[in-house]
Amino acid sequence: MSVNLSVVLDNIAAPVIVGTPIKDNTGKIIDFDIVYTNEEVKKAAGFIMQNKPKWSDFSMNITSDIPWFKMALDAIAGRFYDDIKYFSPSTQAWYKIEMKYVPSEKYIIITFINITSEREYYRKLKKTLITDPMTGFSNRTGFADTFAITLETARFKKYRAALLVVDIDNLQNINDSLGSAAGDQVILDVADVLKQFQREYIQIFRYGDDEFAVIITNFESDDSLVNFIDCIFDAFQLKQISVSGGISMFPANTEQKEEMIRFADMAVHYAKKNGKNSFFYFEPEMQRVFIQHLTLQTKMNEALLGSCFTQYYQPQFDIQSGKLRGFEALIRWHDDELGTISPAVFIPLAEESGLIVPIGKWVLRTAITTLKTWQAKYDFRGIISVNVSPIQLLCDNFLQELEELILEYKVDPELLEIEITEGVMINNMGDAIDKLRHIKAMGIRVSLDDFGTGYSSLSYLQMLPLNTLKIDKAFINDITSKDGVQATITRSIIDMVEKMGLETIAEGVENKEQLELLHKFNCNFVQGFLRGKPMPYQLCDAYLAGDVNALLKN
Ligand code: C2E
Ligand code: CA
Ligand code: CA
Repeated sequence: MSVNLSVVLDNIAAPVIVGTPIKDNTGKIIDFDIVYTNEEVKKAAGFIMQNKPKWSDFSMNITSDIPWFKMALDAIAGRFYDDIKYFSPSTQAWYKIEMKYVPSEKYIIITFINITSEREYYRKLKKTLITDPMTGFSNRTGFADTFAITLETARFKKYRAALLVVDIDNLQNINDSLGSAAGDQVILDVADVLKQFQREYIQIFRYGDDEFAVIITNFESDDSLVNFIDCIFDAFQLKQISVSGGISMFPANTEQKEEMIRFADMAVHYAKKNGKNSFFYFEPEMQRVFIQHLTLQTKMNEALLGSCFTQYYQPQFDIQSGKLRGFEALIRWHDDELGTISPAVFIPLAEESGLIVPIGKWVLRTAITTLKTWQAKYDFRGIISVNVSPIQLLCDNFLQELEELILEYKVDPELLEIEITEGVMINNMGDAIDKLRHIKAMGIRVSLDDFGTGYSSLSYLQMLPLNTLKIDKAFINDITSKDGVQATITRSIIDMVEKMGLETIAEGVENKEQLELLHKFNCNFVQGFLRGKPMPYQLCDAYLAGDVNALLKN
């Protein structure tokens, strides 16, 4: 049976073209005669070929950026291309072009292989790899690609560009206290707010777990950017969602991609440190502070390893009897290059980096060693108070280490006092209370530091297992003011605390008037420059040995 090959070819889904070479009189191929096209060619080309076209006529009509002629010559020479793709506007399909030469017939056979579904598959795959399933925005990988392209384009077209990083405030707390479903809902709410702003020159990404990035380009002026960013911020306020944001600008801040990201991150960091729920534009000053903090972190690490920390002790006295109650242990750090760095500066940084944990261990051990020594030397029965950071307290093995230290040094736990701040209640309240109960059960005293600052919720006083309350210096400062408001408040706090069975220590007492009032109010103890400044070990040792002049005072 003979087969009508033309019918077969017309019913093949792939366009097929057959050409034969046209040579000039030197034998060089200058064009091709198209000797055959199947039905599919008409569809893919979108027009009907008439007469006997030449290859040059035909190829010009379909697309110019495919090197048809060169491909054909190469196919004759036995070289093939694997990556030439053609998009047909009429069939809306993608084809891979294959050319094969049949020397016996001098045919060049061109086949268009439809690869549309394959391409679609890879496109989708790529899209799922860069799409955050939760919000539908591109993820960090997608961000990196797009941001690079956006900045290149901005450079080329002389557009301005800006990067806004939006970080959800306290997402970890929401997850911990209300569960991860509540946390997820916040992420979705944030995504919804941002979605309203998505348009051609504004691209949004899920940049991290609790972070989104917004790339903004082609805005007219800094003012228009500021207006736009204000709108975004207002939209969050309207929904009562607390987010911190940082903005870096191209080319004003930098032209570098990595720096744009770093600067926006620094500005977010700055927003977080300054009370959250706000947006900040990057400023060089932020970088300076950031680098300074980094230097301090590195130096702090070295200080810990090189034992450059020392401990000072500030005496506390019984107001009524004037007798020594004990000492608060206060860390000191002197660096040859940086000078003396206040714990008020480096302790928060150590908390941020986690270095507070080893530092805190050193503080406890040093204080207990001192207590032990003074017990042995002077039969010292006073109390040593040690500041414990919330991060340190919440560490898994804090209790165990404390127990081990007490056993190792065989000190009376009643002479040790842990000072904590209300900060322990912010994260993991339950865990903090459990641990403090355990500490109290070990016989160690628990004192609440800095009362009168921060939230100072009276309900904390009932929840926490306390022995002592330290009234903050900021409170004491104003007790002698004429209007008497602060004095009245202080008096009622002392009354109330006394009824709860706690003792009170007034901090930062600097003058006699303050002391007299506190005496009148029945405050139990005083700690401040008036009666004694923080002093190095040797001076305290001399004082305990009987040298009353050893005390440093105002
Ligand atoms: P704090 O626990 O409230 O310590 C009292 C601070 O007030 C000390 O500052 C002390 O020198 C200062 N002070 C005491 N009496 C007076 C006074 O009459 N007038 C004035 N102007 N100041 C007075 P210092 O030693 O600079 O410590 C600052 C903070 O650093 C401490 O505040 C505490 O929060 C933290 N800190 C200090 N040592 C440690 C430590 O070993 N561990 C931890 N976690 N934090 C520490
Ligand atoms: Ca303290
Ligand atoms: Ca304090």
